[in-house]
Amino acid sequence: MFTQDQPRLRNWINGQFVDVVASGSEQAGKTIPVTSPYNARVIGHVPLSTTTDVAIAVAAAQAAFPAWSSRTIKDRAAILIKFHSLLTKHVDQLADMVVLEHGKNKAEAIASVLKGQETVEYALSLPQVVQGKMLEVSRGISCYDTRVPLGVVASVVPFNFPVMVPMWTLPIAIAMGNTMVLKPSEKVPFTMTKIVELLKEAGLPDGVVNLVHGTADAVNALIDHEDVKAVTFVGTSHIAEMVSQRCHKLNKRVLALGGAKNHMISAPDCNLEMTSTDVVNSYSGCSGQRCMAATVLLTIGQQQELVDKIVAKSEALRPGSNAGEVGPVIDQASVDKITRYINEAEASGARILVDGRPWTKNHSEGFWVGPTVILHSNKQDAALHDEIFGPVLSILAVDTAEEALAIENANPYGNAACIYTSSGATADHFVKRFSAGMCGVNIGVAVPREPFSFGGWNKSRFGNHCDITGDGGVEFFSMRRKVTTKWVPQENASWMS
Ligand code: NAD
Repeated sequence: MFTQDQPRLRNWINGQFVDVVASGSEQAGKTIPVTSPYNARVIGHVPLSTTTDVAIAVAAAQAAFPAWSSRTIKDRAAILIKFHSLLTKHVDQLADMVVLEHGKNKAEAIASVLKGQETVEYALSLPQVVQGKMLEVSRGISCYDTRVPLGVVASVVPFNFPVMVPMWTLPIAIAMGNTMVLKPSEKVPFTMTKIVELLKEAGLPDGVVNLVHGTADAVNALIDHEDVKAVTFVGTSHIAEMVSQRCHKLNKRVLALGGAKNHMISAPDCNLEMTSTDVVNSYSGCSGQRCMAATVLLTIGQQQELVDKIVAKSEALRPGSNAGEVGPVIDQASVDKITRYINEAEASGARILVDGRPWTKNHSEGFWVGPTVILHSNKQDAALHDEIFGPVLSILAVDTAEEALAIENANPYGNAACIYTSSGATADHFVKRFSAGMCGVNIGVAVPREPFSFGGWNKSRFGNHCDITGDGGVEFFSMRRKVTTKWVPQENASWMS
């Protein structure tokens, strides 16, 4: 059943690939197929880890913790320096794996690996930035604090960035002295199996990073395991909320990032050429499968020329895996969901200015929906409010800046928002009023670069109120130990005189 072209994946535990345990529960030994979005062909089979498999991985991480956490942070960062250079050496191979299992085009895949490397760079700078404080707080009494690792931490990641999202947590978590069990998305399980080999080659001791494959059962087993001290999750909001609540019941540290619906507002004074290019990149890049993709454009007033340019640039996009081309979406369920939103908007009176639905029919294999631009007249259209996670742009004309802000502020998510304008004062006005953690001025995908940390607000984030990268990651992956000291002078110490 498992051929060389369709390998059966294995967990990575204690520095080696191991089969899941094949008995003991109903799930034991079961696998699910992994398909390539480009042609829907099965490229492998991912095992469904059970509580037993998770316990084996956690035990390995727990056993590695004392030695790893007692190393200096400089020692740990030195391994990450080697890992960083291995990532550079293998960027092409990793990007090819991302293209195969996820469907990004090659340029997007390379960019995603390089973006992941940025957090590695931040982590290897930690010896320079995580010193504690020290102060003489009363005469003869001093306080200082140090950062202490938590122990075994779990990281659960989504399908849309097979390398970048795992790299949000892994480098900072292990640099701070924790050990980790990471669960890749069952839809894109391959790339991380190469990354763990690179970590080993860089000199990472066995057991510091472990992978378990699977779905909900594996995640719940990780959350419930008493030796797992903290959980990070990135995925859809309803699962992020469930994960967060489950952790809270166990009084477990949790940071669970959820979905998004990001708004762009074009002021009448925006630069038409730049804005139209940026809007198209934002909604259609990575086939719209980005939590930072902006998918609602609110034009202040009718901006026909801007809309025409967006339509022309969208119509020029072609399907494929080369730079500038639009790849497929992850699976058939995604195709069906995206198409449903377009159909519903059309039925409620919206005009479909660019229609991506023919891409589905034009491809005999794979999961394709082309860039789609919808001009809405009904503010209630679900496409304006729900996360669609595909290359679909919803445009709505509003009368005033206040109306645009009211729509943006009313959306339950809070990942990103962007204002297009040629005026600094206008930009300032919007940025101060947006209800989003990551704001753009003339940038539709306003992903902060390290050392600025990544994280949204509201229903885009549950659990601990810190960002996932940068200083937020350091805070999440460590505890502060405060020490208060008083040293009494030894008046009779003969050796002092
Ligand atoms: P998903 O929620 O379906 O899956 C995410 C992870 O949760 C996977 O590892 C999956 O195996 C696991 N999972 C699935 N069902 C579960 C359950 N019932 N209990 C526990 N775990 C479960 O998300 P996805 O489709 O892989 O990713 C896309 C979503 O991720 C989008 O909503 C996107 O906006 C979001 N995302 C958010 C950010 C952010 O920073 N806020 C970043 C990337 C992606």
